[in-house]
Amino acid sequence: MFDSDFYRGRRLRMSPGVRAMVRENEIRPADLVMPYFVVETDDKAFKKPIGSMPGQFQLSLDELEKSVGAAIKNGLASVLLFGIPKEKDEAGSQAYADEGIVQEAVRRLKDRFPELVVITDVCLCEYTSHGHCGMVSKGGEIQNDPTIELLAKSALSHVRAGADMVAPSDMMDGRILAIREMLDENGFTSTPIMSYAVKYASAFYGPFREAADSTPKFGDRKTHQMDPANSREALREAEADLAEGADILMVKPGMPYLDIIRQLRDNFDTPIAAYNVSGEYSMVKAAAQNGWVDEERMVMEMLTGFKRAGADIIITYFAEDVLGWLKK
Ligand SMILES: [Zn+2]
Repeated sequence: MFDSDFYRGRRLRMSPGVRAMVRENEIRPADLVMPYFVVETDDKAFKKPIGSMPGQFQLSLDELEKSVGAAIKNGLASVLLFGIPKEKDEAGSQAYADEGIVQEAVRRLKDRFPELVVITDVCLCEYTSHGHCGMVSKGGEIQNDPTIELLAKSALSHVRAGADMVAPSDMMDGRILAIREMLDENGFTSTPIMSYAVKYASAFYGPFREAADSTPKFGDRKTHQMDPANSREALREAEADLAEGADILMVKPGMPYLDIIRQLRDNFDTPIAAYNVSGEYSMVKAAAQNGWVDEERMVMEMLTGFKRAGADIIITYFAEDVLGWLKK
């Protein structure tokens, strides 16, 4: 009766040591990228809590340096920077200004922490007065080709300031090629591009818009970001970005799109990044603040899910917390 005529899966779950031995996926500090919001302000001590993202802040340059410095002590290896300029205009000119806030932040961080991998978000929506990711025509249409020229200029200005990698998030067509050509023409052939290749028009970005002050004044982003209902289209987008020169493919958001991460993993050999977005963060934080869930266990399970789905890199607002937990 109790011979080996059925599968005894529990044998390999009986002790923490054996469970660890057969564990297939693990979160390493080097996998994590922490996003930061840096504000152009004269107030050096500016550190404003983001109401919809408990534990996250808009930071002055000095405060950014402090937060990053503390996280590095815990093992943080990489950051993704978003800038919030003092002045916005129709063409988002602060996005590609040599003295713009992100450019200054890159210079500051690379000067203080040369080993840190500094990645910059490349888009116009934090810098345009209308809050859109590109140039808008008189009829209210977001114009693709004039926009990608500005994105390429932005990327170049970030790299000139010292960025190790650029991450275009706009979802305009042809922007990876435009950025690659611009970087190469200016001698930056070694700088990689992490493409937000598969970015969905998602309700999960809600809290970010407060954080980055980038809510569109009219309309939405559905003419450039993908329809959440589509997965074959994700492969076409990824393929196009790879052909144009992307080095890393990103899927955004993360949790509702684990199937997409897996499809990309099965179809491409490129490193894949998952963006665990603001809405995913805020849901867990809100539930944890109510005492409804075990935050640490829930976050670790969520992030492990990204790895299991096939992601190599995880961009997450939990990065600072996770590094603290991993150190314990
Ligand atoms: Zn944008």
